[in-house]
Amino acid sequence: MAEFNDGIAATALPTDGVVETDVLIVGSGPSGSAAALALSTYGIPNVMITKYRWTANTPRAHITNQRAMEFFRDMGVEDEVNALATPHHLIGDTVFCSSIAGEEFGRILTWGTSPARHADYEAASPTLNCDIPQNYLEPILTRNATMRGTQTRFSSEYVSHVQDADGVTTTVLDRVTGRTYEVRSKYLIGADGARSKVAADIGLPFEGAMDIAGSMNITFRADLEALVGHRPSVLYWVIQPGANVGGIGAGLVRMVRPWKEWLIVWGYDITQPPPSIDDEAAREVVYQLLGTRDIDVEITGTSLWGNNEMFATELSRGRVYCVGDAIHRHPPSNGLGSNTSIQDSYNLAWKLAAVLRGQAGPELLDTFTTERAPVARQIVTRANKSSREFAGFFDALGVTDAADEAGMVAAIAERKLPTAAGAARRAALGEAMELKDYEFNAHGVELGQFYTSSAVVSDGSSRSEPTRDPELYYQASTVPGSPLPHAWVGDNAHRVSTLDLAPSTRFTLFTGISGQAWADAAPAVAAKLGIDLGAVVIGPGRETEDLYFDWARRREVGEDGVVLVRPDKIIAWRSQGLVEDPEAALTEALTRVLSRSAG
Ligand SMILES: Cc1cc2nc3c(=O)[nH]c(=O)nc-3n(C[C@H](O)[C@H](O)[C@H](O)COP(=O)(O)OP(=O)(O)OC[C@H]3O[C@@H](n4cnc5c(N)ncnc54)[C@H](O)[C@@H]3O)c2cc1C
Repeated sequence: MAEFNDGIAATALPTDGVVETDVLIVGSGPSGSAAALALSTYGIPNVMITKYRWTANTPRAHITNQRAMEFFRDMGVEDEVNALATPHHLIGDTVFCSSIAGEEFGRILTWGTSPARHADYEAASPTLNCDIPQNYLEPILTRNATMRGTQTRFSSEYVSHVQDADGVTTTVLDRVTGRTYEVRSKYLIGADGARSKVAADIGLPFEGAMDIAGSMNITFRADLEALVGHRPSVLYWVIQPGANVGGIGAGLVRMVRPWKEWLIVWGYDITQPPPSIDDEAAREVVYQLLGTRDIDVEITGTSLWGNNEMFATELSRGRVYCVGDAIHRHPPSNGLGSNTSIQDSYNLAWKLAAVLRGQAGPELLDTFTTERAPVARQIVTRANKSSREFAGFFDALGVTDAADEAGMVAAIAERKLPTAAGAARRAALGEAMELKDYEFNAHGVELGQFYTSSAVVSDGSSRSEPTRDPELYYQASTVPGSPLPHAWVGDNAHRVSTLDLAPSTRFTLFTGISGQAWADAAPAVAAKLGIDLGAVVIGPGRETEDLYFDWARRREVGEDGVVLVRPDKIIAWRSQGLVEDPEAALTEALTRVLSRSAG
């Protein structure tokens, strides 16, 4: 008999009938609720179960990048997210200090808020990044998914599953009644987080290690506006002798709601038994990092979590697919976790919909691993690298080699001295700060995912060499496998993004006036393949005009060429110019993308 933390026991209980659906989703975190929202938007029946009685009860993920925002925009919930988020212009004056009230070592303008970087972010997407804590985001996704058709069942725990050629039978424990029931689905999505039982049950292969460092979250209320309002940020890094956060190497004071709700991340030695910390001890940690006791502090919670460095190299077995932290587990550095989890689901949902509707061959689903496993590896590697690079900060401040706390204090003070050693410290500190751009301004990492798979048809071209550092800078392209470049287009009454014209409910082709024949061919291709294929002709006198001539600069094909976009806004195929038989060319490309046999 297994015990659960709310006291309900799983035991041999009667099974109460079978629930039937197309897709069962285990987990209502960012990945599960995004999958549910997308599937319901596409009209695919789905059930989402989650172990607890509600969504996330702690803030956890918060930095929400432009790719995740584009998903929300596509799903029609961007305004709801922005209404509850701390906006872009208040998230990036990231401070490094000895305490919130103490001296500063320096600041970095992060997440594209510096004048030098802001233009890159504005140019890349119709939507800006923001900060929305996970406990505010999940209800938006879950509510909208449920309103659109998802059967959401709280306090429902995945216990086990068996699959056969036609579907998956999952046993679920209803933690309210203590009874089990079965769900019969055509597909199962394991979105059950870093301790995924679904991933373990299907034996996904992983590389890396779990729990390489331990962290404690302390949430608290305190009005810090007087201390931080003039340097608004979501992150305040506190480096002081004795402060240590596992996997990160500094104390972190993180804004949850400006400027009154906060979260401290504090490290503990993972090789020792997990610490238990009472209100008084938590308050002491808060005062230590604030550097003042003159502020009322109300502790609202503590929780422990492990820093991981692990990714799956295959993401599915048969009819079972895993998304989110179930397949990539890493520290919060770079803020990639929830963002990548949402992108996993965006990638998978349209493919499941296409296969379930009979529009695509089942092999299309194999491209989920081909496309997303490299992303999982990349982000786990990047986040852990960023986490380790914090050591450069400690080296620059001289605390790494100090024998004791007094030595650390002296080393930190050395940067103020008019000596050669002081000058060296100042220079080293500047370099260490610059390196953190790879964590806090890594626009290329956030947006630049590129796919090579059978769901992308090469036009024989390859990506041009990046003109700037590809981790820091995003370079838009229409080479098949790239995300659709954003450009503002429209008419004298409306301005829309190219991304808005390619909704995830269909394939979309973009062409110019000289390429009208591509658009003319679209209805016949759509009818032949039984898919929805939209056509957008951009040019003067058409419904959509190239208002700023940006689309012409970014499309990388001739005006009579075509760019074919998948539902998840990835370029499926392109042609530099008009061909003799556009209908045949489009049919061939889509047949390949959809893993359908020709003819
Ligand atoms: C302190 C901290 C800060 C972070 N900051 C950021 C950030 O700024 N940006 C970012 O992008 N990411 C961040 N992350 C990472 C982010 O929280 C995760 O990547 C994200 O939550 C993963 O989403 P998920 O849906 O895959 O899994 P989770 O959010 O872990 O959700 C798992 C779901 O599965 C359910 N579940 C688990 N087991 C079962 C079961 N047996 N049966 C039924 N349901 C089950 C749970 O109830 C839950 O609903 C941060 C994480 C931490 C800890």
